Amino acid sequence: MPPRGARVEVPFGKRILVGVVHDHQPSSLKTLKPVKRVLDQAPIIDDRLYALCEWAAGYYHHPLGEVLNFVLPTLLRQGQAARPDAEIRWRITDRGRHVTTDRLKRAPRQQEALALLVEHPDGLTPAMLEALSVSRPALQALREKQWAEREELLPQVPPLPADVLAEPALSASPEQRLAIEAINQASGFQPFLLDGVTGSGKTEVYLQAMAPVLAAGRQVLVLVPEIGLTPQTLRRFRQRFAVPVTVMHSGLNDRERLEAWLAAGEGRARIIIGTRSAIFTPLQAPGLIIVDEAHDGSLKQQDGFRYHARDLATWRARQWNIPVVHGSATPALETLHLAHTDRYQWLRLRERAGGAALPDIELLDARDAAPDAPLLPSALTAIEDTVRRGEQALVFLNRRGFAPVILCRDCGWQAECPRCDSVMTWHRSLSQLRCHHCDHQQRVPRRCPECGSSNLIDAGAGTEKLEALLSDHCQAPVVRIDRDTTRRKGSLDAKLAEIRGGAPAVLVGTQMLAKGHHFPRLSLVVITNLDAGFLSADFRGPEQAAQLLLQVAGRAGRKDLRGRVLLQSRHTDHHLVRLAAAGDYHALADTLLEERRMAGLPPFGHLALLRCEAMSMDKALAFLDECAAPFLQHSNVDDDSVNLLGPAPAPMEKRAGRYRAQLLLQARQRPALHGVLDALVRHARGLPSARHCRWHVDVDPTEMV
Ligand code: ADP
Ligand code: ZN
Ligand code: ZN
Repeated sequence: MPPRGARVEVPFGKRILVGVVHDHQPSSLKTLKPVKRVLDQAPIIDDRLYALCEWAAGYYHHPLGEVLNFVLPTLLRQGQAARPDAEIRWRITDRGRHVTTDRLKRAPRQQEALALLVEHPDGLTPAMLEALSVSRPALQALREKQWAEREELLPQVPPLPADVLAEPALSASPEQRLAIEAINQASGFQPFLLDGVTGSGKTEVYLQAMAPVLAAGRQVLVLVPEIGLTPQTLRRFRQRFAVPVTVMHSGLNDRERLEAWLAAGEGRARIIIGTRSAIFTPLQAPGLIIVDEAHDGSLKQQDGFRYHARDLATWRARQWNIPVVHGSATPALETLHLAHTDRYQWLRLRERAGGAALPDIELLDARDAAPDAPLLPSALTAIEDTVRRGEQALVFLNRRGFAPVILCRDCGWQAECPRCDSVMTWHRSLSQLRCHHCDHQQRVPRRCPECGSSNLIDAGAGTEKLEALLSDHCQAPVVRIDRDTTRRKGSLDAKLAEIRGGAPAVLVGTQMLAKGHHFPRLSLVVITNLDAGFLSADFRGPEQAAQLLLQVAGRAGRKDLRGRVLLQSRHTDHHLVRLAAAGDYHALADTLLEERRMAGLPPFGHLALLRCEAMSMDKALAFLDECAAPFLQHSNVDDDSVNLLGPAPAPMEKRAGRYRAQLLLQARQRPALHGVLDALVRHARGLPSARHCRWHVDVDPTEMV
């Protein structure tokens, strides 16, 4: 009988589907059909991974079948063999070795091929055959005579090198040393927060903590943010260690993805580096998990199966009984709280590596700035001075496009997205208006559609406008990095390489620039337009704004040059803006944590959102009302109660043509929350009105819109 986690083909209506075995039970049901074919004798999702899937399905209230489907590489889902690509070798046989060449006088192609096989006793690969232009029919003919053979070699687990280090480690600072030793001393499950300021050399700590794990023949799983997986990151791991490194990210094709999954599961890969979904990789001999930039939002999946890879990493480390390191200069408040309460061991790097100093942040009051000038004159001067000195500057603006609004000066009309509650962004280089929420696109109107006036103007600035402005002012190339300029494969890497090259330049970009980059010649950072985050009604707004601010600021002065950061703000006396500008993330975090404690918000309380989209707001609200009805009496305030807030229209009421509403569940204790969620989801699935809307549950939501 196929075991749990093996694949089988089953008839389903008229189709044949691939399924994963969950359990066996005798049944007398006549309508049940027998399994058509067993695809795997051994589980393809091993017991450990299966347990993770089951737990995550329960925790995130997502159907187990969909979780298993999500976890399996596409080719396995389609029923292909769980076998790696064999390496093909053509070799000479013993018989072939004794053939004298004149026996092939009348077959010169075969003669040639045989001679080459003699020259290559280890065999010829298809690539070598190609390069040597060996005739395929000739090879086949030799094979039929049994003078040559075709071998299929399955990849083997390579032997452990005598020394896993391919290059010497840097000499660690005392703080780094303490952190490395703590991680290496952990036996079994132990979560760590590696809380190190930007440029403090967290990567060096990871590398040195990994060395003994790899030397012991165990594997290391490294999770990085989507954008953090640059060739430079990979190079640092590949250069240091003489062991195979496998990469997993969304850019792989189906075959590459399957190969990576199998290499990890068979133990051929020793270091597995990937974005969030890599947490679902089977490992043969896990020894350590590292979550780099553990505060990063991309670790949480925001559609379908809404898991948080950061939290699953800790769960897996416990399951595998190994240490897990969460590294960040700006840890999430949840993680910080775990460190404060000693559930995570707190490792701190307070100083930058190699003697560099942390940059000071200067507040620039932008209250009186001209409304259409994205940069204050003093900031512009500082940028010009920087490139004149032969250094690099970075201007951060978290908004793509040329201008966020187009409006009519005569009647006040604004270009709005017909499908969303949102204005359209003007992308000048594309001569298009685009909605950043649903990707609706339209041409830029010549006249106001309301009053016919041609007096249309744009307001505000995006990265495209900043790029144009800086190109006019600066005697250096302006490099823009945002989603629009990096769509083509390899273009981001090319731009990052140009900056690392070190010639004077001005970088303009969005939060893509905030993630872990190391630019040695960058000395000035100008940050604009972060106010909205600090003032946001979303309780996570200030935390995210502070993280963004300090991460972007942290790109300045990482090597020999002294860094300087200018923060343009219209709210220079707001207490959170001031705290953030003081550069003291922990002071700010303590303030925010206190606010969260008072409000019973995470990490002091737990949240889940039930979101619903429908063709009208009434339908969406009605569905959520029905969902909530049986649970309303729970609303008292003892410790294991669950508060239901709403339903209410979502902050963005309409998106991509659908109306959105949400119901918030808030509880002091997780078990209470999950108890109500379980019942609520079951109840919701049975409601007839569920057919008229799309709904989902988001446990531990990170985006409240
Ligand atoms: P973080 O990830 O903490 O922001 P990085 O790991 O990128 O910092 O390190 C910043 C720079 O400092 C890198 O160029 C790295 O090679 C260098 N570095 C790290 N540790 C040391 C050390 N012990 N001695 C000298 N240079 C170091
Ligand atoms: Zn008008
Ligand atoms: Zn839209």
